[in-house]
Amino acid sequence: MAKQEIPYKIYLSEDELPKKWYNIKAAMKSQHEPFLNPATGKPCTADDLRPVFCDECIEQELNCTDLYIDIPEEIRNFYKMYRPSPLVRAYCLEKALGTPAEIYYKFEGNNTSGSHKLNSAVAQAYYAKKQGLKSITTETGAGQWGTALSMAAAYFDLDLTVYMVKVSGEQKPHRREVMRTYGANVILSPSDTTEAGRKILREFPGTGGSLGCAISEAVERAVTSDSCRYVLGSVLDHVVLHQSVIGLESKAAMEKYGVAPDMIIGCCGGGSNFGGLIAPFMGDKIAGKNDIEFIGVEPASCPSLTRGRYAYDFCDSARITPLAKMYTLGCGFMPSANHAGGLRYHGMSPIVSKLYHEGYMRAVAVEQTKVFEAAQMFARIEGILPAPESSHAIRVAIDEALRCKETGEKKKILFGLTGTGYFDMSAYKQFNDGTMQDTIPDDAALERGFATIPQVQENI
Ligand SMILES: *Cc1c(COP(=O)(O)O)cnc(C)c1O
Repeated sequence: MAKQEIPYKIYLSEDELPKKWYNIKAAMKSQHEPFLNPATGKPCTADDLRPVFCDECIEQELNCTDLYIDIPEEIRNFYKMYRPSPLVRAYCLEKALGTPAEIYYKFEGNNTSGSHKLNSAVAQAYYAKKQGLKSITTETGAGQWGTALSMAAAYFDLDLTVYMVKVSGEQKPHRREVMRTYGANVILSPSDTTEAGRKILREFPGTGGSLGCAISEAVERAVTSDSCRYVLGSVLDHVVLHQSVIGLESKAAMEKYGVAPDMIIGCCGGGSNFGGLIAPFMGDKIAGKNDIEFIGVEPASCPSLTRGRYAYDFCDSARITPLAKMYTLGCGFMPSANHAGGLRYHGMSPIVSKLYHEGYMRAVAVEQTKVFEAAQMFARIEGILPAPESSHAIRVAIDEALRCKETGEKKKILFGLTGTGYFDMSAYKQFNDGTMQDTIPDDAALERGFATIPQVQENI
């Protein structure tokens, strides 16, 4: 029989939507170090986390043994409104590059929030509802996470308060309106609604706020309000678990046509989309069933994997969260202005950090102007206007495809296209105007960040 022609878009049917998430930790030979309670220096117990996070998310966070975890019917029903997401064969891009490589991308921007973040937002909102909670709270910087969570909270009829970094709220008033349309209470941070916010306002009147401050405000609200919990859009293991739906669908779609990827590329902010995209493929690699090359891509302005330290650090700049062993630039590291807001994070998922540390994947840092060149090319050739974050993966996919052109290798490249860039037009404007600049921290700037990593006694 002739080999089946691969369509431009490989769709899975509703029945093929995964029924279980893939818990990569159960496939790993060794686990990442436990989260530490900063007050005691001892590993966090479920009880330590209970005032802050939903019970079911804590269970998932600490689960290292079940390879598959059921996706509840209610969550699958929401997923069905926008999933399975398409896996696209980038025929037009291949042709434009003149590469013998095959390029595939998994597109997660096909929902109103415009990114993959909805996959975890809906799961976390569901578990809050199931636990009988009335409200949830979070912070948002660029706005993608807040938007995704607003949609999920509306669906499950939960009150949601989003602390939005003041400068972002002012720069992106439309983002804020989308969230309010879905019913979220959006408070610009710092605000006078929390002790943390009032303190910052007293000390720095007129400040534009920061993600660290917004996190402090949201966590304070969660622990001081009845029936309220805090939810987080990346970094933590349960978020990576929820995002495994991306990898499971990609694997199923490729297997339908007998395609086995040689290389998988994704952008890394907190590491959740990348961790979820690679999860089932990485599990097979650990079991010796494939030899896929995994590449995490980060901005040169915020290079936690390629230039960071593997150390215990706070997950937030306000130094209130548990300590995680991860690749970090230091919780006090201030990345320079970079338009990929979703990638401006000082640390990295402990799961992704561990895989990187053990040599199962590599990482590449790319400069902003090169990223936007790739974004513009992709928009013109493949039609989709990509998010700046996603465009980091596009850049490296293009570079790898061009390398194949030189060597004649017919590699099969899969990359994650995490979202669309409609709210990032001021960044595109700078690029189009030719005023965009690359800022790469020098070693002294990195040292200043490393100095903010707390001293932690290891091997407790
Ligand atoms: C938030 C975001 C990212 C980065 O987050 P991860 O947790 O690293 O996945 C990437 N792309 C888009 C479009 C985002 O909104």
